[in-house]
Amino acid sequence: MRETNKKIAKFLAEAQPETPCLVIDLDVVGQAYKLLRRYLPLARVFYAVKANPAPEILGMLKDLGSSFDVASRAETDLCLERGIGAENISFGNTIKKERDIAYAYEKGVRLFAFDSEPELEKLSRTAPGARVFCRILVECTGADWPLSRKFGCAPEMAVELLRRARDLGLDPYGVSFHVGSQQTDLSQWDGAIERTARMFSLLAETDINLRMVNIGGGFPAHYRGDVPAVVNYANAVMAALTKHFGNNLPELIVEPGRSVVGDAGVIQSEVVLISRKSAKDPKRWIYLDVGKFNGLAETMDEAIKYKIKTPADGGPRGPTVIAGPTCDSADILYERTVYRLPLDLKVGDKVEILSTGAYTSTYASVGFNGFAPLKTYCI
Ligand SMILES: *Cc1c(COP(=O)(O)O)cnc(C)c1O
Repeated sequence: MRETNKKIAKFLAEAQPETPCLVIDLDVVGQAYKLLRRYLPLARVFYAVKANPAPEILGMLKDLGSSFDVASRAETDLCLERGIGAENISFGNTIKKERDIAYAYEKGVRLFAFDSEPELEKLSRTAPGARVFCRILVECTGADWPLSRKFGCAPEMAVELLRRARDLGLDPYGVSFHVGSQQTDLSQWDGAIERTARMFSLLAETDINLRMVNIGGGFPAHYRGDVPAVVNYANAVMAALTKHFGNNLPELIVEPGRSVVGDAGVIQSEVVLISRKSAKDPKRWIYLDVGKFNGLAETMDEAIKYKIKTPADGGPRGPTVIAGPTCDSADILYERTVYRLPLDLKVGDKVEILSTGAYTSTYASVGFNGFAPLKTYCI
């Protein structure tokens, strides 16, 4: 949610749920999905389940025609349980147990990611004939939550691996990359698509005709700071595809997570304590009942900077450090980043942390210090 969401405000006022809690407006999820479909009509959308696996979200996206990107056996089951067909599931994690590949294959999943030879060998043993795509390394410059280094291999290696895929009886289907989550540099897709197109040409020389480009996620939610509009992202992607593939456009897959659910969620939290470290310290410490371990993991290194709304907004403001409720000193949300919350804010006030629909509810500990994982309400 970017500003006040009336439906969520009404729910919070009437239901008075225990805090902290996450409230998701399913209408906003639907709108975000449709916006992406409108601006990237050529792309098949695979929603990245990890961003928020709430069954209501999966069910609604399924009804809208979405496919799904899963990373584990449990996420596969979550989709299958909602009646999502195996043909609409992509096993996009490049790090899989062989028995989990076998499980997904047995359930009918036929689309798998890889970025190394050992993974390819696992796939050839347990998912014979499946369509496979190789993830390549990209820089992720400009992303607030980079996914670099851990995933993908050098394009030269990827070319070799896709050849090997064919020799192993798999179907070398395409190339994927992820330019980093909450990516605000639109030029990042151009470099990645250029590399991908070069791989298509090289492989065509040995009669391997790749068909698919998977451009990953990276589209933004609205935190503090401006981000380009979805239409600009879509235009950047399409311009890069036409520039590097000409008229021979490949099948296109996009795997959005953050941009589909991020803005749909609001966390309501209660102020537990407001204090100072010394009498003259101008900085107040504001402790909330939500922190790094029960929903706000992406404040790690202060990477994601959420907008915060309080009942005292409009009054005078002063500098603050914002922290969570646990006994771990790492549970500080913002100390270096300038946050000035209202001076009239009181203990017991409810604050709203906006655009918290992605990477919150399941990105929480199971109960560190006895603080329960974040409860989700989908409305
Ligand atoms: C996490 C992830 C996504 C979603 O990325 P967002 O930036 O949230 O859109 C897409 N694809 C893969 C392979 C991922 O791991």
